[in-house]
Amino acid sequence: MKMKTLIAVAVAAAVAPAMAATYTESVAGHNGPVAVQVTVEKGVVKAVKVLKNQETKGIGSKAIDAIPGAIVKAGKADVAAVTGATVTSNAIMTAVKSAVAKDKNGGKAAKALPTYKPGTYKAKAYGSNGWVNVEVTVDEHRIKDIKTPELRETRLMGGMAVERLTSEIEKYQTLNVDSVSGATVTSAAFKKAVGDAVKQAGGDLSLLQTPVPKKRAPKGVKTEKADLVIVGSGGAGLAAAVTATEGAKRKVIVIEKMPVIGGNTLRCASAFNAADPARQAKLPMTDTLKDAVVKAISEKPANAEHAKLMADVKEKYEAYLKSGSKSLFDCPEWHALQTYNGGDKVGKIPLIRTYAFHVKGTLDWLQGLGAPVRDRVSQGAGALWQRTHQFDAPAGNALIEPLLKAATKQGVKIITGMKAESLIVKNGKVVGVRATDTIGGKYAFNSKNGVILATGGYSQNKKMRQESSPVLTPDMVSTNQPGATGDGIVMARRIGADTTGMNYVQVYPLATPGSGTLQGRARKMSGLDDVIDVNKNGQRFVKEDARRDVFVAAIKKQPGAMCYDINDSQIVEKTNSFNEDMETLVQIGRIYKADTLAELAKKIGVPPKNLEETVAEYNKQVEAKNDPKFGRKLFDKKIEKGPFYATPRAPSIHHTMGGLLIDTHARVLNKQGKVIKGLYAAGEVTGGIHGSNRLGGNATADVTTFGRIAAKTALGLKD
Ligand code: ADP
Repeated sequence: MKMKTLIAVAVAAAVAPAMAATYTESVAGHNGPVAVQVTVEKGVVKAVKVLKNQETKGIGSKAIDAIPGAIVKAGKADVAAVTGATVTSNAIMTAVKSAVAKDKNGGKAAKALPTYKPGTYKAKAYGSNGWVNVEVTVDEHRIKDIKTPELRETRLMGGMAVERLTSEIEKYQTLNVDSVSGATVTSAAFKKAVGDAVKQAGGDLSLLQTPVPKKRAPKGVKTEKADLVIVGSGGAGLAAAVTATEGAKRKVIVIEKMPVIGGNTLRCASAFNAADPARQAKLPMTDTLKDAVVKAISEKPANAEHAKLMADVKEKYEAYLKSGSKSLFDCPEWHALQTYNGGDKVGKIPLIRTYAFHVKGTLDWLQGLGAPVRDRVSQGAGALWQRTHQFDAPAGNALIEPLLKAATKQGVKIITGMKAESLIVKNGKVVGVRATDTIGGKYAFNSKNGVILATGGYSQNKKMRQESSPVLTPDMVSTNQPGATGDGIVMARRIGADTTGMNYVQVYPLATPGSGTLQGRARKMSGLDDVIDVNKNGQRFVKEDARRDVFVAAIKKQPGAMCYDINDSQIVEKTNSFNEDMETLVQIGRIYKADTLAELAKKIGVPPKNLEETVAEYNKQVEAKNDPKFGRKLFDKKIEKGPFYATPRAPSIHHTMGGLLIDTHARVLNKQGKVIKGLYAAGEVTGGIHGSNRLGGNATADVTTFGRIAAKTALGLKD
């Protein structure tokens, strides 16, 4: 092997041009191709310039800034990768190697077959939810098989990306495969791990850079007819599709622009709010909680609808007091009032009432479809009341998987990689959608019963979100999938639809710093009942059960604009709600664990004495059920049983409260307040329910509830 390589280099050197030559190489980076211009003179790298890339600012961009210079300084491609940006670093290095190989080959692409030492090689890289382990089997010249044992990635997202990339790498014998949009972290980890395994086999990565052949779009417009067309395959779209095909044979088409289904619903922590007396029976009603109800029903009403809602809650609350119950008070009216108040009284009460009154029915329906609803009810971050249900399955899988299963069983046609571009309107009625596929093919989906827009929010549309809210600068990270770009709003506005609350965008307080994802928490559930948040001084700075906007504003004032979740071992299980393994999270430094608070404080660099004092003070407050400093209402267990955990957290753009204006039947309204015939909308694409601030746990509940309503209205089904 070694001899052969030496000879090959010697021969190549003999044909290498004596003059400087410039090559442009394109190699798959983290988010897409990285085009690199390389100047080589007598086999030495003289200049490197990244011409094009889509790498993440602040992460991949660090490699784009540093690696070219480092390579030129070293005069060769192999330099140390930038920590945290290895995929981008490697992409640049591979591009340079490929250019050097070309230069040696007299300017032509090196055609040599890669040579491997036959066998099976193992490697791993951290993906979204855990290690992506690969076992790559090679023979002398080919990658024969790639296995990914114990994959923890979300099945419909990362799992699907791994399947696709495996088949492309095996088929085309290239590592220059595009990351699967919507699953770029998993894709990058997978590609890195496969690359590492190939290197162990003695493979030269620069020989594995042939791009996957591009398909050509056919000419003309393909048409297809359906009883109902739904745009978007998140919680709202799938709930609508399942409802539309329940108990009757109908042709329902769901088009989804991303290669993966599930939208943000698949990425969420699956917190679902619903007043649920049976499951809430175990929760005590404390004096502070009583005060919260009394305050909300005694204030000056903002308008007649508010007054009526307050009166309805009052009636229910008085009946509750009379009953002598010691369990937590709750009912749809109270859920509605908290949703309205939590959104600063700018939401639309009829929509909120519809939501709150249907939501328990939706939860039962989802459970009937197989969603594993846990019996424990808690208060999710920013939920304001202990009515947050969670599911016994990782992330939004609990919602999307049962919906997908039912949709598939009932014959719903789901087309991924199909982007709706515009609505087809005939005689003042929406009768279909024009769409394009990933290679530019044109389609018209004609629908007998109109179109449901379930396209989600616009947290990833930097222009739209900044127009809505100037504080949301383009550099801010988001918890959302890249397809959340407000397309439904754009399409519907073009035919006269009205919007509401477009200036209200929610930032999630407790995401992973840097990447902005929800993952990485050191506890099973998303509830904050047993968690405190401290700043870099080890001190609390906010009531943890505050509204999300209040929480975010408080974090922004702390050193480094970040904080740490602190909790003890009582609420830790082997995995968290994203199926991440707790010990792995500790190993890779996403969370910190120590036997004592003092040790934990040292690990995260906060003064040990402060953290100990903060926890001791909090534990006293748990006993007294009173937090005089910040007014926290939520107390369950003390933080006292080691090991103790700290998780770095920072804000990330999360949910767009504004969107299309609908009525309580999910019909889209125009600027004159009139129904646009044939157009329905459900989920995050709509506005008016969450006012200026969505309560944590109200999103999945809203999207699935209104998805069902939209389907029923479109098809004239009974509620
Ligand atoms: P919701 O919670 O309201 O259901 P999600 O974010 O879960 O919203 O899902 C919305 C889905 O709609 C996403 O999967 C997104 O990729 C998809 N989508 C957005 N715009 C389009 C479009 N123009 N064509 C097809 N699908 C779209």
